[in-house]
Amino acid sequence: MRITSILERSVGLRGGPRGGAANAMVNFTNHTVSLVALITDTTRNGKPVVGVAFDSIGRFAQSGILRDRMIPRVLAAPTDALRDDAGRIDPAAVAACALADEKPGGHGDRAAAAAALELACWDLNAKLADEPACATIARRFGRESAPAVAVYAAGGYYYPESGIGDLRDEMRGYRDLGYDAVKMKIGGAGLRDDLARIEAVIDIVGDAGRVAVDANGRFDRSAATQWAAALGPYGLRWYEEPGDPLDFELNRAVTACYDGAVATGENLFSVPDVTNLVRYGGMRPGSDIFQMDAGLSYGLGEYARMLEVLEAHGFDRRFAFPHGGHLINLHIAAGLGLGGCESYPGVFQPFGGYPDGCAVTDGGIAPTDAPGFGLEQKAGLTEVITELTA
Ligand code: MG
Repeated sequence: MRITSILERSVGLRGGPRGGAANAMVNFTNHTVSLVALITDTTRNGKPVVGVAFDSIGRFAQSGILRDRMIPRVLAAPTDALRDDAGRIDPAAVAACALADEKPGGHGDRAAAAAALELACWDLNAKLADEPACATIARRFGRESAPAVAVYAAGGYYYPESGIGDLRDEMRGYRDLGYDAVKMKIGGAGLRDDLARIEAVIDIVGDAGRVAVDANGRFDRSAATQWAAALGPYGLRWYEEPGDPLDFELNRAVTACYDGAVATGENLFSVPDVTNLVRYGGMRPGSDIFQMDAGLSYGLGEYARMLEVLEAHGFDRRFAFPHGGHLINLHIAAGLGLGGCESYPGVFQPFGGYPDGCAVTDGGIAPTDAPGFGLEQKAGLTEVITELTA
């Protein structure tokens, strides 16, 4: 089989139920995502088999990098160079081809662009095997796919003209959907106001141990440790990205003074970045949480090597909870036996959250049996996929 064309489209995000969602650092109103489709010459029911994926959420569409550099490289490659021994399209070969003649380091936006292509290969191969992607992933890495993935509802963003009453309503809504754990944003308001928001959410959820807070890299070292002191007594589930994601010394200062779990990693895009985090960031095995996201970091192959780094340094993959609450990461978490993943039940449509067939049961969500990542099953997403591939 061979890839006959690669399509890409930038798709705008719909922020949330109350308009433009914002965290402590960014407003998502103008955010976009690259949706890609690999069209092949293999047909099923008279139609070409198409691999579909996207570059997660939070770093914008990468149309220029994809269209100007990566897609032409992949389409120009000899077919044999992109296939594995069984004749399937090899995700690693496609990623390597997409990155031809690019120097190491400076990962940034190209890591997300390459990820969209690499992940589309996994979708393609799962569809060719007529199985959900979690099964393909598990087999490739010699594992059993988990029947369900522990999820938490990520929300609690800042909205214009929105108060604590709206935040309480939002969290009640997640509880009514079956979620028993949530995450909320902090650092976008003053300490006193944010502590009142946190207390309101704990009140709704009923247990601070099921409430995580995310500062999205907002704080300098002094503020990060002051907030750690203020958050400590609550016994929260975790304190996420207190400072700049590449300031490992800051992260170490927080883990040194905060007894609860610290979470970070969603803005690390390569194995060397993760290696530096575990060398210098003060992360504690059995406590702290890793949130790297394959869709932002060259795809599943790079992500699996990040897990190898964690395990080589004494960490357990059950403390990996990928950023980005969408179907692709649900399959990755199931296929690789991770601790769980995020869910965006209310925000970042059409990519966030799961299809109607994926209800929350006992705090977990099971991927459906749809072949591939099942993106075509999700309302809102199926329409843009159809438009892209028509
Ligand atoms: Mg985060």
